[in-house]
Amino acid sequence: MAGRDLPIIVVGGGIGGLAAALALSKKGRAVHVLEQAATFGEIGAGIQLGPNVFKMFDYLGLTEAINQTAVFPGNLMMRDALSGEEVVRVPVGSAGFKARFKYPYGVIHRADIHGAFLAACRKSPLVTLSASRKVTGYEDRGDRVVVETEQGGSVEGSLLVGADGLWSKVRGQLVGDGKPRVSGHIAYRAVIPTQKVPAHLQQNNVVLWAGPKTHLVHYPLRRGEVYNLVVVFHSSRYEEGWDTYGDPEELHERFKGQRPEVLEFLAMVNEWKMWVLCDREPIKGWSKGRSVLLGDAAHPMLQYLAQGACMATEDAVVLANKLDAAKGDHAAAFEAYEKERYLRTARVQLMARFYGELYHAADVRRDLRNSLLAGTTPEAAINGAAWLYSGIPV
Ligand SMILES: Cc1cc2nc3c(=O)[nH]c(=O)nc-3n(C[C@H](O)[C@H](O)[C@H](O)COP(=O)(O)OP(=O)(O)OC[C@H]3O[C@@H](n4cnc5c(N)ncnc54)[C@H](O)[C@@H]3O)c2cc1C
Repeated sequence: MAGRDLPIIVVGGGIGGLAAALALSKKGRAVHVLEQAATFGEIGAGIQLGPNVFKMFDYLGLTEAINQTAVFPGNLMMRDALSGEEVVRVPVGSAGFKARFKYPYGVIHRADIHGAFLAACRKSPLVTLSASRKVTGYEDRGDRVVVETEQGGSVEGSLLVGADGLWSKVRGQLVGDGKPRVSGHIAYRAVIPTQKVPAHLQQNNVVLWAGPKTHLVHYPLRRGEVYNLVVVFHSSRYEEGWDTYGDPEELHERFKGQRPEVLEFLAMVNEWKMWVLCDREPIKGWSKGRSVLLGDAAHPMLQYLAQGACMATEDAVVLANKLDAAKGDHAAAFEAYEKERYLRTARVQLMARFYGELYHAADVRRDLRNSLLAGTTPEAAINGAAWLYSGIPV
């Protein structure tokens, strides 16, 4: 088969990889997704979705599937975890927010958003999904890319999209900039049935309790049937790795002295899943020859703006559009894709670090944060988010 007739290989079947497969297939391109896990799936936790990604869902024909399980909160609220005072709120459910951004702010279970992408990919005759294919390396042969997998056997493609996440093998070969940066922040996550949450703590808001070197976030998921909890604290105890179990004792120690609401939430969970949070410096040079990076593989970020999956989805749409417009000139398409994406994603990467500092401020920094944000009007809060939530042109 001539190189140009081969499918585009996408390494990684997470949200970014499936979004890429779907967006490319909608432009008439055949895609082969290689996923290392035995099945295509996502872990059980919540994810926040800005209006910028709802614009992408609309473009990809996914809105109905997403809306079936998404919850649309009234506000994003920051509260001080020591005093209980409300520091600031963004009224994401308000008429003003909807008028400004045209699309809603939602929260969803990861399995549900991933499932929506997966179902759409399965419906497309142009998408082939192969699980249990762990990519170990690839070779650019000029007219094609040949990918090697741990399971043996090679897979050929016209182009290669590295959507293999934070620990990307493709990035290792393409950029070669070593391991991600360990931030020193640890996240524990849990999803609990709403019946376990006392009525006085239930609300349709995303609430962030900002404490010294800690924060806790809670919001309802799946039509309000379950609650998502995320707690973050600073620790140099952990180096790297993820998907292991957290230590509740350590949590109680870190959050000692905080508001009763925070402690009540912590007491509801016995089993936490743990993540060591990492990111990287923003870079240029996302492509080389026939290979290109997307999502966390290109621009891993801390989750403090809740945008990693949103950015990966935007990447996917832009990449597919650029490849379509370039009519076979993949180098021009990759260049145009990076040009359109690198400053926006760099801004999120760097601002996310800053927001981490803001959430975890202690002592005078905390007082300064609370005093500077006090009295923020709904209009000002909405204006402040416009660079991000207005989204990208498609
Ligand atoms: C605590 C926390 C909270 C977050 N909250 C939000 C939020 O509210 N909103 C938001 O938008 N984002 C959020 N994010 C970020 C978001 O989860 C990521 O940015 C997003 O999942 C990245 O998607 P991806 O497809 O690029 O990478 P991943 O989701 O990491 O997917 C990569 C896929 O590639 C596969 N893979 C890896 N290596 C190989 C290989 N060698 N061969 C084959 N397959 C491979 C993996 O198994 C995986 O399926 C959060 C992240 C964290 C840690």
